[in-house]
Amino acid sequence: MLTEQQLREMLARRNRTLLPTMLGAVGGVFLYFAVLGLVREPLVTLVVRKAGPIAGELTTIALIFSAFPMFLVPSCIAEKYVARFNLMCPACDRVIPIIRCRRLLLTRTCPECGERILEGGRVRHAAVYKRYEAVRTRRMLRTWGWVWPVLGGLALIWHWLDPTGFQNCPQCLWTSPLVGMVSAGWVWLRTHDLRFASQFAASAVLFCVGVRSFWQAL
Ligand SMILES: [Zn+2]
Repeated sequence: MLTEQQLREMLARRNRTLLPTMLGAVGGVFLYFAVLGLVREPLVTLVVRKAGPIAGELTTIALIFSAFPMFLVPSCIAEKYVARFNLMCPACDRVIPIIRCRRLLLTRTCPECGERILEGGRVRHAAVYKRYEAVRTRRMLRTWGWVWPVLGGLALIWHWLDPTGFQNCPQCLWTSPLVGMVSAGWVWLRTHDLRFASQFAASAVLFCVGVRSFWQAL
């Protein structure tokens, strides 16, 4: 039998490993944008001269979207490193990935064999955990999903106050509402929760306004 203290110590160790890596990833993305600010103009000018204005436009968009893998690669490396903290089930000897430890804490049973392996507390069914996770995720998305339309709205307000503000990067006027539209749309389809429809609608309106402002800014 494992004790809750052992499990919590392991989770704390994992968080201590993950946090610096994630901060490094965020720092890397900021550094990437700083370097991008310096090299974008000469690079796009070169592409426009060699291959035309459409290729120049595509290069700008590709440069922005390449920040996503920059963020994902360190996260994947961190996830691999975190696998070191995986547990062995004392009942079935199978590996319990560290990401399933929250479930273990709540249900007190092994996610692989279903045997009770954690001391103390009440044993709960796996379905209880699933419901708990779904409610938790949905609550988080209901708040954080608004980040994308808010960022898009702020970019547009900035653009209206200072039309030269996004002159070098007019794609910023529609990228975050587009991300908001896709993510809220996806969650809305999956959950049929109407509260995500408002997120989707706000992002869609801002996306249309952003695209319009983008063409005017060109
Ligand atoms: Zn087991």
